[in-house]
Amino acid sequence: MHTNSLIELDRSAYQNNIGFLKKTFGKKVIISSVVKGNAYGHGVQEFVSMAFECGVKHFSVFDVQEAKVVKTTLTNKATIMVMGLVQDEDLEWVIQNDVEFFVFDKSRLTNAMKVAKKLDRKAILHIEVETGMNRTGFDKKELNAVITYLKKEEQHLTFKGLCTHYAGAESIANYYRVDQQIKKFEEIYAFFCKNNLKPQIRHSACSAASIMFPQTRMDMVRIGIMQYGLWPSPEVFVTYLNSKKNKTDPLQRVITWKSAIMSVKKVNSGEFIGYGTSFMAKRKMTIATIPIGYCHGYSRSLSNQGRVLIHGQRCVVVGSVNMNMMTVDITDLEMAKKEDEVVLIGTQKELSISVASFSDFSDQLNYELLTRISKAIPRKIIK
Ligand SMILES: *Cc1c(COP(=O)(O)O)cnc(C)c1O
Repeated sequence: MHTNSLIELDRSAYQNNIGFLKKTFGKKVIISSVVKGNAYGHGVQEFVSMAFECGVKHFSVFDVQEAKVVKTTLTNKATIMVMGLVQDEDLEWVIQNDVEFFVFDKSRLTNAMKVAKKLDRKAILHIEVETGMNRTGFDKKELNAVITYLKKEEQHLTFKGLCTHYAGAESIANYYRVDQQIKKFEEIYAFFCKNNLKPQIRHSACSAASIMFPQTRMDMVRIGIMQYGLWPSPEVFVTYLNSKKNKTDPLQRVITWKSAIMSVKKVNSGEFIGYGTSFMAKRKMTIATIPIGYCHGYSRSLSNQGRVLIHGQRCVVVGSVNMNMMTVDITDLEMAKKEDEVVLIGTQKELSISVASFSDFSDQLNYELLTRISKAIPRKIIK
């Protein structure tokens, strides 16, 4: 465990976000909390416990390993849905534990049936269909066979959901493509109905689609980034604001990432700082070393770019981000000393470092930045 930094999760911010999402989608729409990628870096165990206490009962993960962590954390109290990888050797556990899963190819469908039959327990399926993302999903021409199979093996297979995923709903540049996908999904649903086979629920929306294309909300939304208090892109935020009289951000950041100064040193004008020659002191400087590096998830692309907060002031990373350490300029902070708090993401006094700001000085998306934060950093729920 890394004891050189701490991730805090703000329960009241999360409660606020869930409240906003529920109000936006209405009572009839199920909110599935997407917790893949270690709950977007928040720490899956701590995060799902907090979410469950805040009333969330449905969780989506990428693979079975993540499903097992959620299952162990929450025992049998929540619904778990695997959206990605289920290996054949895991099917038994999945079906035995009523974990729901996406099915997007014939072999998974037939293997699920075999295992369900052997266990004498129904497999709970979400049939994912291809609508234009071209990643996973049954093609139109396979649907007849899928429908026939689901009907034939009805005593072993529960047709819980019909679903798809959009190829970039967060950007208006993809408007036409997503719009076509929505139409195609409607057609596929109609095709199932015409063949007398209805799923219990339909779902397609991620955070961006749920705001940009409200018709995609259907029976359930799969919400990742927005529950963490962040917008999928500035465009989605602006679209939301334009639809409202009250122009304030309804979301609150859940995560805070903190560390502390490890050592302080004076550097003369003309000296280079750290490896190589990427930063030369142009005056007498005071440098603080922070025990955070790229092995903790602080990207090397933030060398000479990143900002942190110390004593409520913004301080710039100087030199390169190393594996376990980085150096920041504290020349103008005379009171700064060893062990003082350093905020990498979050608020200190009047200033904040937002997750979105990282994309201003590196090419990191908010999603990428968060999921890179090391799993080994302790997480703590506050408030
Ligand atoms: C990650 C993911 C989501 C959630 O996306 P956000 O943009 O974080 O809301 C929804 N559906 C699928 C299939 C996903 O992989």
